[in-house]
Amino acid sequence: MNDRSISTSNKLSYCIVFNKNQLLFKKSEGRTQFPLINEAEKLGIDVSNIIYIGTLDDIDYYATNVSTINPVENFFLKHISEAYGELEENIFFLTLRALHFLNWLNRNKYCGCCGTKVKLEPKETHIKCLNCGHVIYPKITPAIIVAILKDDKILLARSPHFTPNMYSLISGHIDPGEFIETCVRREVKEEVGIEIKNIKYFGSHPWPFPDKLMLGFIAEYSSGEIKIDNDEIEAADWFSLDNLPNIPEYKLSFARKIIEWVLKNR
Ligand SMILES: [Zn+2]
Repeated sequence: MNDRSISTSNKLSYCIVFNKNQLLFKKSEGRTQFPLINEAEKLGIDVSNIIYIGTLDDIDYYATNVSTINPVENFFLKHISEAYGELEENIFFLTLRALHFLNWLNRNKYCGCCGTKVKLEPKETHIKCLNCGHVIYPKITPAIIVAILKDDKILLARSPHFTPNMYSLISGHIDPGEFIETCVRREVKEEVGIEIKNIKYFGSHPWPFPDKLMLGFIAEYSSGEIKIDNDEIEAADWFSLDNLPNIPEYKLSFARKIIEWVLKNR
């Protein structure tokens, strides 16, 4: 992003500043806000490489990732999952878009065809190599997540990296050439050994850690006994909807959103 593209507009321009998965905010009349670009600059942030993320309500949003930051008075860092609920929802999802773009750019500094160093042009959403013309689009990795129901029970599983006693839904990545519904059946069979039926689409959710798009489903148990794979899953069981174990807490979790929908609509 060059300086000209920022300064030609009199619009308000906020800078979404990431430090890993933390966001930089300022306190402003009791509200949580992003710093303006000039405020970010005063905090020592290099704004010469910020990227345009989008415009909402006539306000431009840019983003950058910094390895270190020392917030001064009125500025503070907060994990992105904790920012959910404090920001308006459309602005919150703009931060997910920003994180996805920043993660992608961090992994695409050179052309994969000719090795030339590449750069995202202002207000573009893809990179074109100026040497060979190769076009690099942001990588989006689709993954499924599925709630499996059996009478008034739900199948929940835990992965070894979860916090103690935490359970969630079955999820997994879609393989090249695979149909989405085939992936849902395969992941369930691989991870917990059962067959499912009546797979219904629930909805989707961006998950930029680093580049996923989660596709949510609700399915019914069909046959088989639970047999965990002991690799991605270390425990799985049927839990009564009236007596669930710990499930992901923060509202950013798509699993939480699906489970809450099941509880409301059973
Ligand atoms: Zn190239």
